[in-house]
Amino acid sequence: MSLSSTYRFCPQCTRPLTVMPVGGRDRLCCDDARCGFVLWDNPVPVVAAVVEHEGKIILARNVAWPRHFYALITGFLEAGESPEIGVQREVEEELGLEPLGANFIGLYDFFRKNQLLIAYHVPARGTVKLNEELDDWKHVAFDDVVYWPAGTGYALRDWLQRQGYSPREGESPNIRS
Ligand SMILES: [Zn+2]
Repeated sequence: MSLSSTYRFCPQCTRPLTVMPVGGRDRLCCDDARCGFVLWDNPVPVVAAVVEHEGKIILARNVAWPRHFYALITGFLEAGESPEIGVQREVEEELGLEPLGANFIGLYDFFRKNQLLIAYHVPARGTVKLNEELDDWKHVAFDDVVYWPAGTGYALRDWLQRQGYSPREGESPNIRS
């Protein structure tokens, strides 16, 4: 039994959760049938931005990541927020840039984190000023991009290919840390 959740207690009534088959799968459920809580554990949507700035791509490093790994800007949506608005808000918050629109690239699965990535190309202008979630960033020329074999990397690859570039695949961010 390998349920990915870290939940152990019912968020509705605080009784322990137990594994039961519901809808053809084993799921964590409240052991009190009168409560009836089921942890569906559906994937969470996450927006991701391929940021274009001064004719280059911006890749940034999260404070929690390995030193060599730079990737896209990502974030969760706020309640009631459209993905197009949310991805531009994340670019503004995390990089301090002025977003100039959001062009849809595609949807990408990210099973390891139970997320669905909604990827956009976001042109932006201004001076980069990182927020507390990031500790470094770099400009990468379109010709020099090496994408990584995971959801956000595939979004970057697909956008570049549509612009006529042929990025090569590099190391997975999860192999080395
Ligand atoms: Zn319960």
